[in-house]
Amino acid sequence: MGYILSPEAADRLIASLADDCLVFAPKRFVGGAVFSDLDCIRYGEVKTAGEIVFDQKSDYSFKEILTPVCQALFYFTEDQIKEADAPEKGAVVFLRSCDLHAVKRLDDIYLNNGEEDYYYRRLRDRVKFVVMGCSEAFDSCFCVDMGTNVPEGYNMSMEPAEGGFAIDCRDAELDELLGSLADRECDVEPSHVEETKTRVKIPEGLTQDVMRSKIWDEYDGRCIACGRCNFVCPTCTCYTMQDLFYTENGRVGERRRVQASCMVDGFTDVAGGGSYRKKNGERMRFKTLHKALDYKQRFGYQMCVGCGRCDDVCPEYISFSRILNRLGDMMEEVNTDAE
Ligand code: SF4
Ligand code: SF4
Repeated sequence: MGYILSPEAADRLIASLADDCLVFAPKRFVGGAVFSDLDCIRYGEVKTAGEIVFDQKSDYSFKEILTPVCQALFYFTEDQIKEADAPEKGAVVFLRSCDLHAVKRLDDIYLNNGEEDYYYRRLRDRVKFVVMGCSEAFDSCFCVDMGTNVPEGYNMSMEPAEGGFAIDCRDAELDELLGSLADRECDVEPSHVEETKTRVKIPEGLTQDVMRSKIWDEYDGRCIACGRCNFVCPTCTCYTMQDLFYTENGRVGERRRVQASCMVDGFTDVAGGGSYRKKNGERMRFKTLHKALDYKQRFGYQMCVGCGRCDDVCPEYISFSRILNRLGDMMEEVNTDAE
């Protein structure tokens, strides 16, 4: 069912939702960017529609709602273990089409990749998604080429229209609430883009042979292994485990999992002092081929959703979309060398 809501009614909608659950959306953190005089758009709890930033891309994705940056799994004492409590409330998450497609990637990694991840499942089952329509693409977006421009499987859509908000509701519970708040009913389809300025073409015949390309070496010097590209990515899912000891004898404490990055030092350290992919170019190769080759071989579709956040955030101006576009050249290089 489609609705038009006034700004006041939209505020009442968010306030009603916030009575029963946590409402997360991109919001403005004034002075919260890397440079203190710049704002950061990232996810936070909202209580009114006015707090939601619709006209800018969020610098960070929604993913920390489903895969928290730091998550306690259980607590232990000398002779007991207690599982960390699940959050008391469910959540409603506002996100764009590319990020909604990223949820499918997270689901496949955490739920459809062998044993289900218990901690992900207990959060995931209590989340509803509200898609924010995109009337135009931001400069670094390449969702159309990655097939993620059209939203699928949302509970509700919401975007500015007619001085208020246009809403498409596909959820019985939310529909009941909207019926009492809406100014009027009408047909609504969330906006989506059909073209982007940034274009990406991943070669069809991509194989592991591309690992032999010398182009990866360029990134040994250019990349500083800060990991920002991973932390902003809605589809990067790696984490590491940490035990935090409350006592000196190490027998009381908690186990946490913490988001990790395949680009930073230490990610491939193993027992006995071994470490793989020491060079930054090797890490870039691993990240790229995980997203553009391995994942597709396993699940049948591309992992990257083309949100462009990694291009936006890299302090060294390394463009992941450009790397994807260079894969064709790299394949040509290794095929020519083999002749
Ligand atoms: S564009 Fe970059 S940040 Fe966005 S999904 Fe692809 S790899 Fe991740
Ligand atoms: S954000 Fe840029 S410099 Fe930092 S790890 Fe990623 S590619 Fe390297």
